[in-house]
Amino acid sequence: LLPILLHQFIYRKATPTTLPSFLLIGPSGAGKTAFLTLTERKVVAQTHTSTAPLAIEVLLPEDHTPQSSHYRSPGDPAYERSRRFLLNDTPGHGKLRHFATTQLANPTNVRGIIFVVDAATVAEEAGLNETAEYLHDVLLALQKRYTGATTSKGPKEIPVLIAANKMDLFTALPPHLVTQQLEKAISEVRQSRAKGLKDSGAALSGEEEGLDEEREWLGEGGEGNFEFGQMEEVGTTVTVHGGHVIGGDGADVKGWYEWIASHL
Ligand code: GDP
Repeated sequence: LLPILLHQFIYRKATPTTLPSFLLIGPSGAGKTAFLTLTERKVVAQTHTSTAPLAIEVLLPEDHTPQSSHYRSPGDPAYERSRRFLLNDTPGHGKLRHFATTQLANPTNVRGIIFVVDAATVAEEAGLNETAEYLHDVLLALQKRYTGATTSKGPKEIPVLIAANKMDLFTALPPHLVTQQLEKAISEVRQSRAKGLKDSGAALSGEEEGLDEEREWLGEGGEGNFEFGQMEEVGTTVTVHGGHVIGGDGADVKGWYEWIASHL
């Protein structure tokens, strides 16, 4: 027994602990860097256009309790440890998105994805479409990760928070409309992607074509509307919470931290 315990002890010591992490994803200008800065320093500084992914170790604010620590008391070292996590900021520019996709393909201890949306931008068609395309691709990457898994249990689930930001602006859509508009626009994205595949797949045999289409179709089959609830089947719960990082009487991102806490 002793050698086994000793081995476990040494092994444990040698295993580097990776902090739970959350990926910040979303179109450029949505407010990812602002949120990161707020969480890191409690004040929002001027942000720059990010060109490289950035992982920052942060603490869950005191007024939220990590799910894993509900039975621990503040002051317990384990409680303090459980409030630590990494926020991975990913660049939002089209060409730099592969950073985000790479992290999706090989996530280490990723507890969730925070997809930041500018709720004022999605009130207009161009902004809505850009956001919906990006979100469609992120959700499809998660779906493929799930359906492509080789273990019988399926991979660990990765929930998505849609952080509907900039609620301080009067042009911002309220969260329920952000949800509706995005679901509608994503339905259109998947329709046009499917059509693109069909057009380009003329040379494939019927069977191959069918397989390909199935793999690239987000959510359930059928021609109906896409709904975020369809992602449950592939291990992803999508939640929408409104908030604002700046403006109003200061930041209001309680809903986002509460969501983080529930996955920490
Ligand atoms: P990123 O490209 O997603 O990292 O976006 P940034 O964090 O750089 O934010 C883009 C712009 O939106 C900046 O000028 C921010 O000051 C502004 N911004 C971020 N959050 C909010 C918000 O909640 N309300 C308002 N009104 N502006 C915001």
